[in-house]
Amino acid sequence: MTDQTRYFRLANITKLINTKLELRDVLNQVIAAISEEIIQCDSIGIYLPQEDGLLRGFVGKPEVMNGMTIDMHVVDTEYDLLAKEVMETQKTIYVPDTSIDHRPDCRTVQAFNIKSLLALPIILENELFGIVFLFDAGIPMNLTDVEIQSVKSYVDMAAIAIQNAKNLKNKEDLIKEKQLLLDVTHDLSMCSSVHEAINTCFCYISTLLNNNNIGVHLLDTVAKLKIKPTILNSKSDWTEESWITTLKETNFDDENDQVFKDVIATKEAILITDVYKDDRVNHAVCRAFSIQSMFVVPIVSIGEVLGIFTIVDMHRQGLNYSKVNQQLTQSIVNATASTLSNLLNIEKQDQIIKERTSEVLEKNEKLNQTMKELQRLNRERELLLNSAGEGIFGIDVNGVITFCNPTAKSMLGYESVDELQGQSVEQIFSANSKGQGETVFFRQDQSSFPVEYVISSITEEGKTLGEVVTFKDVSERKRMEEEIKYHAYYDSLTNLPNRVLLNDRLEQGLSYAKTNEWKSAVLFMDLDRFKSVNDLLGHSYGDILLAEVANRIRFCIADDVTASRQGGDEFILFFPHIGSELDVMNVIECIIDLFNKPFNLRGHEVYMNCSMGISLFPQDGTSAEVLVKHADIAMYQSKNISGTSYRFFKTGMDTRIIEHVKFENDLYSALEREELEVYFQPQIDYRSKSVVGVEALLRWNHPLEGIVSPDKFIPIAEETGLIVPIGNWVLERACEQVKRWQEDGNTSLCVSVNLSVRQFEQHNLFQTVQDTIERIGLSPKFLCLEITENQIIKNTELTVQTLRQLKELDIEIAIDDFGTGYSSLGYLKNLPINKLKIDKSFIQELKSHDSNSAIAETIITLATNLGLSVIAEGVETEEQAEFLTSKNCYLMQGYYFDAPMTTEAFEKKYVHLI
Ligand code: C2E
Ligand code: MG
Ligand code: MG
Repeated sequence: MTDQTRYFRLANITKLINTKLELRDVLNQVIAAISEEIIQCDSIGIYLPQEDGLLRGFVGKPEVMNGMTIDMHVVDTEYDLLAKEVMETQKTIYVPDTSIDHRPDCRTVQAFNIKSLLALPIILENELFGIVFLFDAGIPMNLTDVEIQSVKSYVDMAAIAIQNAKNLKNKEDLIKEKQLLLDVTHDLSMCSSVHEAINTCFCYISTLLNNNNIGVHLLDTVAKLKIKPTILNSKSDWTEESWITTLKETNFDDENDQVFKDVIATKEAILITDVYKDDRVNHAVCRAFSIQSMFVVPIVSIGEVLGIFTIVDMHRQGLNYSKVNQQLTQSIVNATASTLSNLLNIEKQDQIIKERTSEVLEKNEKLNQTMKELQRLNRERELLLNSAGEGIFGIDVNGVITFCNPTAKSMLGYESVDELQGQSVEQIFSANSKGQGETVFFRQDQSSFPVEYVISSITEEGKTLGEVVTFKDVSERKRMEEEIKYHAYYDSLTNLPNRVLLNDRLEQGLSYAKTNEWKSAVLFMDLDRFKSVNDLLGHSYGDILLAEVANRIRFCIADDVTASRQGGDEFILFFPHIGSELDVMNVIECIIDLFNKPFNLRGHEVYMNCSMGISLFPQDGTSAEVLVKHADIAMYQSKNISGTSYRFFKTGMDTRIIEHVKFENDLYSALEREELEVYFQPQIDYRSKSVVGVEALLRWNHPLEGIVSPDKFIPIAEETGLIVPIGNWVLERACEQVKRWQEDGNTSLCVSVNLSVRQFEQHNLFQTVQDTIERIGLSPKFLCLEITENQIIKNTELTVQTLRQLKELDIEIAIDDFGTGYSSLGYLKNLPINKLKIDKSFIQELKSHDSNSAIAETIITLATNLGLSVIAEGVETEEQAEFLTSKNCYLMQGYYFDAPMTTEAFEKKYVHLI
């Protein structure tokens, strides 16, 4: 019966084990079965090892004893020697009398008043699952062997149930673990950076271990084996920044930390439940973070340590992770490791690629810059070579042309650049030209042209490789110079030599005649009543007449005779070599003949007479001046004879000389008698139509002759030296007046004063001028001094030096009557001057499409090129003013605006209005 019931119970439990999955229920059934069978037993408890590793009550009967539930009971093998022995021996031990057997825990025995006790191991295949206790509550159980055996068989059932449950749990855990790892692997596969992968890992570990304080130290990918704190879980108690700085401040040395070293060496995780009990741990760091325990896990991929996870806790022995969780953590880390390894490699490669790319980019950039620079240089070189005007070619040491620009090619008349390259430089110019200067270059067709050139040598490291020749075709400039020269020497109306050239020829011819003891003659000729032609028919008819007279003269003279126009209707003929007066007579007769024929002036027939006077060398004078004067006097005599006539000079004819002397005497006293007066002629800026300055022009109020023009008395004043005191007086008077006008409000009014060369010869001109303006208080910039070209040439050294001083003082220097004298352009360039004053003869002959317009224009261009300002004098018509304006000459002076006028007249008209 009892056996039957027992089998039935066992069968029931077996059934339960197979159907009911819950271990607790099965074990409760086991307890129920035992207590039904062993009725003298008061309490049964099954103790199983729990998560914390202790043997704890799992199920029991009764459920509450002395106010304690079964799970509050813990088997302490230190006190409970019975349990210890059972576990060690895996044997069932029955203690029938606790008073004589002291193996059971005396505290429990006393607390529950236990008299007898049965302890059984729960074993299956030598594995101990737990312990079962049966005991009484005051009355000994007195168990028989059979009873003990039957309890044992129930306990065996419990073992099976536990193992089943365990297997199930293991299976569940495994599945969970696998799922977890699958999830980890899946999530990691979605990561594209080391950071992301580690954060994913953090996420899993922190959930698994219920701890957010996880940091990772990675091996530096750049510095290879170096390990350093890299990432801290963002949910950690510290910020990543404070984590890293604290580690630095506590001098934490990743490389030499013993824990890290061990972990890296063994590639095994280390769990340290109390850091202060472990010498390997850096205690300073632990104190800084208040760490109590730590779990250090290596990140290992294919046998290589990539870094270390440190999981720390601030509670003493807080990190008591089960083996399973430790392993799971390691598995998560391992899964992370392979991803990490890939990503680190990718990052390393990325880094390398980035470095290479930036290197390549940098090199590219440099290359681009060099290319650009090269292109720029090329462009510049091309520009230079192609730049208009200047020809450039290079020659090597053998004098062979190595390169040239298109300008050089075309200026030298070659078909192509290639054709010129390779030529010997000797083809072009003589090789002894050096440095810079002017010479003649030869074109391919052997024709030549004037050039201005610069030769510079090409040297490299002290070695001469060749030369570069830069040149300018100066034909045009030469032509201009010639043209100016022509106008300086020739009268443009008649194309006859002018006064300047005549003087030149006279000087030369006379000195020749002197040496060769030749006879020479000067013929002075003046048209009679020429003024009436001008007055009746107009100037243009007068001009035609003058030109025709010149033609007739030319017709009558031999090649060696110079016929010149002196100005107005005066002509002078110079015969450098005559046999006798007869030679002159022949010419005179020819002239008389021709003058007997009428002049045809555009349909008007005009009869014209002329008067001629002749002086002979050497008897009538030996200097040009005297000869001309005497011829003039003789001509004057012939004026008294009607019709075309002539007179040879005779002594006593020179009554005009007496006049001259008288005039001279009058002039001496003119200053004292206050007969001299300064007139002012306004100088206009045609753009603004405003007066910018005045020219001071001297007048002589002669008591008998009335107002005498300076052309008449200035030469006498110069001859006698009177010009010096007179000139000083004019300067003073003019400056004074202008200063006064400035004070009246015309603050920017300038004054021009004419200087005679005699004034320079005094040696103290500069001092005089400086003293004068200082005394008067006129700023030097308002004073302009005018001097004629020929005057400068006459007395170069001293004049130029004084001019330089004056210019340095900021006084303006103008060349008066420019174009009438001749000075080379090169010479002009070196003079200390500011301004050119175009002579009135060029302005008055200004008609558009006339060669004179070209001269005025040339002078304007020249002035601009030399950086000089330019003013036109003698502007008489609007047409002239407009023409000058169109050529960019705006400063003008002339009757069109106003003739020179008295101070009063000027004040009346201009002062306050300016
Ligand atoms: P310049 O310095 O070339 O003066 C210009 C002359 O041209 C002046 O003659 C002036 O009256 C005249 N003029 C002005 N506008 C016109 C115009 O539209 N048409 C024409 N045909 N002539 C015009 P001026 O006053 O008879 O003086 C003659 C020359 O005497 C001056 O020529 C200058 O060289 C000299 N001169 C005058 N005053 C002085 C002086 O104080 N000292 C010195 N050394 N020479 C003086
Ligand atoms: Mg002047
Ligand atoms: Mg002048």
